[in-house]
Amino acid sequence: MLDLPVPPRHSPAFGHDALVVCDNLVRIYQSESVEVQALQGLDLLVHEGEMVALVGASGSGKSTLLNVLAGVDSPTAGRARVAGHDLVDMTRRERVHYRRHVVGFVRQQTARNLVPYLTSRQVVDLPLTIAGRPRRERHDRTTELLELLGVAHCADRRPAEMSGGEQQRVSIAVALANDPRVLLADEPTGELDSETAAEVFAALRTVNRELGATVVVVTHDAAVSGQVARTVAIRDGRTSSEVLRSHDTADQPGRSEEFAVMDRAGRVQLPREYREALDLTHRVRLALADDHVQVRSDRSDHGA
Ligand code: ADP
Ligand code: MG
Repeated sequence: MLDLPVPPRHSPAFGHDALVVCDNLVRIYQSESVEVQALQGLDLLVHEGEMVALVGASGSGKSTLLNVLAGVDSPTAGRARVAGHDLVDMTRRERVHYRRHVVGFVRQQTARNLVPYLTSRQVVDLPLTIAGRPRRERHDRTTELLELLGVAHCADRRPAEMSGGEQQRVSIAVALANDPRVLLADEPTGELDSETAAEVFAALRTVNRELGATVVVVTHDAAVSGQVARTVAIRDGRTSSEVLRSHDTADQPGRSEEFAVMDRAGRVQLPREYREALDLTHRVRLALADDHVQVRSDRSDHGA
């Protein structure tokens, strides 16, 4: 059996004890003639200290979600809260503080995380300087982070003098400079070959383990669910399923189990393969059994 935390049955408020709370989050992009519903009522809870991978097809809303959590975009409706900060009603001043101190963000495009003419040491120093940290502390923090991420040898190099994997590990160091509670990374391995991607992913796990930072990482690499305790799949702007993986123990490797996500109104998405196999469309018959719920085609005459 998987050893999973059981949430209380009558929690006072949705996600009251979670570090990241997305409650029925909606983000609609409106251009002249078209309206795109990038997030369509997404619910997500992430607890302090967790490392969660987000996966999903291109266009499913992953970057939109991360931009909202990073405080660089605002939701159209719904609620988003990170470490007690309400991302919907934030003043500009709070937003600046939030982006500097509460979250660290590694963007999807490698080039946007670094500055071409700054060395790694200088670019990690930048957010510390903006936060007004004294020189000694800045120096120590920069050294510590570059070492933790295995890029101490890149301290005096500029982006053009580093490999893609090294650049991304320096980007992670920049995001962590001011010791954020949550590290958000949007496809940090998207432009890397699989071996280098595995190194960068390992660096994120180190950050989660050693610094205790909560990590939310978007990836299109389905193999990651073998490497993190929790993988959340996003489909059409909603969380649709989760894979949970138990810890490895001395005598047994961890096991993975996939769950469908049920929203608070009780809606569950049936996988397409299931719908096609039984030709389920529009209406289905539900029946409650002792320990499970049956879903049948409305054309079946069983149990009618
Ligand atoms: P993902 O990161 O999962 O590939 P995105 O969050 O980038 O998905 O996009 C979700 C949907 O929103 C897509 O249909 C995309 O085209 C649309 N979208 C994203 N950003 C914008 C924008 N700035 N303006 C209009 N539509 C957008
Ligand atoms: Mg994206």
